[in-house]
Amino acid sequence: MELTEDVSVLKNVGTQRLSQLHAMGIETVGDLLEHFPREYEDRRQMKTVDELVPGQSNTFRATVLAEAENIRYQKKVQTRLKVGDADNSVTCIWFGMPYLKNTFQVGQTYVFTGRYEIKYGRRQVSSPEFESMEKETLESSGKIIPIYPTTKGMSQKILRKLMAQAVEGMKDRLKDGLPQWVRKQYQLAERNFAIENIHFPQDENSFFLARRRLVFEELYLLQTALFRLKEQATEGKSGPLLDAKKGRAEIEAALPFSLTDAQKTVLEEIEADFGSGRVMNRLVQGDVGSGKTAVAAVACYETIANGYQAALMAPTEVLAGQHYETFSQLFTPLGVRVGFLRGAMKKKEKQALLDDIATGRVQMVIGTHAVIQDGVLFDRLGFVVTDEQHRFGVKQRVRLAQKGESPHVLVMTATPIPRTLALILYGDLDISIIDALPAGRQAIDTLVVPPSYHERVYGFIEKELKAGRQAYLVCPAVEESEKRETEAVLTYGEKMAQRFSAFRVGILHGKMKADEKQEMMAAFAKNEIQVLVATTVIEVGINVPNATIMVVENAEYFGLSQLHQLRGRVGRGSEKSYCILISEAKNAVTKERLKVMKRTTDGFEIAETDLKLRGPGDFFGTRQHGLPVMKIANLYQDMDVLRLAQQAAKESKNHPLPQEEEEAFLAQLRHFFGGNEIGI
Ligand code: ADP
Ligand code: MG
Repeated sequence: MELTEDVSVLKNVGTQRLSQLHAMGIETVGDLLEHFPREYEDRRQMKTVDELVPGQSNTFRATVLAEAENIRYQKKVQTRLKVGDADNSVTCIWFGMPYLKNTFQVGQTYVFTGRYEIKYGRRQVSSPEFESMEKETLESSGKIIPIYPTTKGMSQKILRKLMAQAVEGMKDRLKDGLPQWVRKQYQLAERNFAIENIHFPQDENSFFLARRRLVFEELYLLQTALFRLKEQATEGKSGPLLDAKKGRAEIEAALPFSLTDAQKTVLEEIEADFGSGRVMNRLVQGDVGSGKTAVAAVACYETIANGYQAALMAPTEVLAGQHYETFSQLFTPLGVRVGFLRGAMKKKEKQALLDDIATGRVQMVIGTHAVIQDGVLFDRLGFVVTDEQHRFGVKQRVRLAQKGESPHVLVMTATPIPRTLALILYGDLDISIIDALPAGRQAIDTLVVPPSYHERVYGFIEKELKAGRQAYLVCPAVEESEKRETEAVLTYGEKMAQRFSAFRVGILHGKMKADEKQEMMAAFAKNEIQVLVATTVIEVGINVPNATIMVVENAEYFGLSQLHQLRGRVGRGSEKSYCILISEAKNAVTKERLKVMKRTTDGFEIAETDLKLRGPGDFFGTRQHGLPVMKIANLYQDMDVLRLAQQAAKESKNHPLPQEEEEAFLAQLRHFFGGNEIGI
């Protein structure tokens, strides 16, 4: 057996099993070994029937007291088996497995593991796993048992048996992917031990050592990859040498406000990079409304004043369109030509714009990531800004840097990540933080109300509309179906159009064509529409200062950080703003979560609380950050190991590997990032 071999080499893997394994993303023996347990069950403590604890899974020893019976119940077959000892008995029940009837013999002893309940006064165990005590070696009883993420039709027992085969088949033959010096210095278990004990831990301590080693390995790979990316993007690469003073006074005078100190500090960091001769790779973190766009605009203008072109990429066309408006207003009077690359452009129009970009007549280019990355030729690209980077991955960043020239790159994000973690996660970027909001912002009042308040909420909206303000209504999120989501938003929109018949109500959803969305947003921005009913399309970045009300239906469906983003759409002008969260929130955790929204407007605090209450879940779902999905490490809980791994990755420079090992390590890195696209 080899790691690269197809899982079908394992015994008992036929076409059906194979397709189940494939559905779980498992193709090879190696993939199977890296399918780690999601939890464990401690079956070392074997109970007697007398000791069973109701409401939970129990492992117990019992003797078959009577022959099993098959009973038809509502067209289904139930197999019932009475087991116990001299003092007590309990009934084991299985569903739809009539063949089990003949498995058991009266008087034989088995070990059962299953959930024990007392139902209608009857003591029963549903669908227990079982093993005969007569067998010489017990496979799973008396051990710590792994529980795997699995798929329909693939039981824990079967998966466990396959895993045992793979572990046995590869026993003591796994190559260690971690360099020797790392293992020694950080006292990490060897790989064979780790794989064996992560699946079938001998005891707690072995499990701990195994997990620590595997987590370390994964994070070490991540960190090494990020460092190499950074080196590749920056090392020895000269960036355009820009004189940042050029244009600064001019653009500042053109802004409708003066920059905050926080904005100025970040600009200084950017300007230092501009003037360094080295290429910039910088992340700007700033809470919603902190004024990241203005920082980008100043830096773009400085670039253009130096005779280079600048590009701004946004994740959605709506957002790109809005940036286009802002930049046009600001730059056109200063004699800078701004171009907007849209998906749906007439061929001729698009060609003309592409020509203007290629010859340098258009100096400021705005569009979505997709549009700008696909074969746009620049005359002299000096600076690229990507907005809202949590939807923009490492790979895209690299691809961009690989496009011939090495422009300075600035990535802007409103995703609040604690600084320590950001430093590690964005190990390939320098980080700037806009840590204060522009002065004079009014606090946003946040209310959490039950659905019975609908009419009062609408009444309140009406009052605001009459005073000349605008409102966002975010529709119930419908899970998993874009079609149903669209239907929901259309129905809701119609209802609102009737309710607010004196005003214009617009609808925005993901299924609309890009230019339709564009028009709708533009109309809302110009106050031609007063109420915007939307799905979370509006979540990121939209800026309409006259909008003062944000209503979110079914607020409990949203993550707190998402609600924070939504709330950030209001409170952008000088008028008092309101965020109304409508929620049926019955359970305590949900209530607690929504209360946090009332308590604070600090994005970092909100993110941390969300983390605590919800658990890490997919908060650091690394996909958001364009990083590979972690198989075992938890970026939040394993922070201490993450730090060590980062340290080791930094030190790796001083420990060059022999060529063969280096190549093996690179292969592992590529495997980790799912192919060679990352360009390491
Ligand atoms: P975000 O950081 O969320 O992208 P924006 O760049 O959209 O925030 O800015 C939010 C709002 O604040 C905009 O209306 C913008 O014009 C305004 N703004 C930005 N900087 C300042 C400032 N220094 N003083 C006053 N208002 C500002
Ligand atoms: Mg923004």
